[in-house]
Amino acid sequence: MSTLEQETQLSPFQRYLRTHFHQDDADLVQLQLEAQAAGLPAISIGPEQGKFLQLLVALTGARHVLEIGTLGGYSGAWIARALPAAGRLISLEMNPRHAAFAQGQWNRLGLGATATVISGPALATLPTLTPAAPFDMIFIDADKETYPDYLEWAIRLARPGTAIVLDNVELHGRLVDQAAQDLPHVRAMQRTMTMLASDPRLVSTVVPYVDGLAVTVVRGREG
Ligand code: SAH
Ligand code: MG
Repeated sequence: MSTLEQETQLSPFQRYLRTHFHQDDADLVQLQLEAQAAGLPAISIGPEQGKFLQLLVALTGARHVLEIGTLGGYSGAWIARALPAAGRLISLEMNPRHAAFAQGQWNRLGLGATATVISGPALATLPTLTPAAPFDMIFIDADKETYPDYLEWAIRLARPGTAIVLDNVELHGRLVDQAAQDLPHVRAMQRTMTMLASDPRLVSTVVPYVDGLAVTVVRGREG
C-alpha cells in the first residue's frame, strides 16, 4: 500500500490522531517516497506505530535497540530519533538493496552515527550480536515464519525489563481465520502468540494497531 493509499483509507479519527500526534515530517515523507520510487515494498509500519515505538524508547529509557527487518529504514528512523545522544540502533536486513537504501536514508537524516544496518539473514547475524547484548528494546518485523526463533533470540539478547515488540501478529486477519490455520506463517504466529501469552519469562499484550502490535516485557528473576 502506498503512503497515499494509506492516507485515503484512514478513518476520520485516525486522520485526526495523525494530525495531532504523529504526522510524518518532510524527511520521513521523502524517505517513503524514495522507497516507493526505488521499488521497495510499501510494508513499513505507520506513523502511529512509529510514535508508539518512540514512547517505548522513552518509557524504558532505552539506549541500545535491536531491530529485525529494516526495509527502507522508516521504523528505524522513528526509533533512532527517540534515542539519547549515546544511543545505538542495530537493524538486521537480509536484502542488501534494502540495507543499502536504509543506511543511505539514515545518513541523510543525520542518524548515521546512531543507526547501523547489518546485512544478511537475521538467523545468521543474530548470533554475532551476543557481545553487544543486552538490548533494552527489540523490534521484530521480518519474515513471519521465523517469529518463534526471533522471539527466542530476542529473549536471549535481553535483560529483565527489556521491551520486545512484534509487528503484524494479526497477519491481516489470518491469525483468527479458521481456514488459514495450516499456512506455515500462521502456524508460526500461533506458536509465537502462545509463547507470548504463556511463557513464564514474559508479560505480554497485543495493541490492535493496524495489523496487531504485540508488546512484551522480559520479567525479572523474582517474577
Ligand atoms: N521494519 C520495517 C519494515 C520491515 S519489512 C519498517 O516498518 O519500516 C520486512 C523486512 O524484513 C524486509 O525488508 C525483508 O527483506 C526483511 N527480511 C525478510 N526475511 C528476513 C530475514 N530472514 N532476515 C533479515 N531480514 C529479513
Ligand atoms: Mg510490519
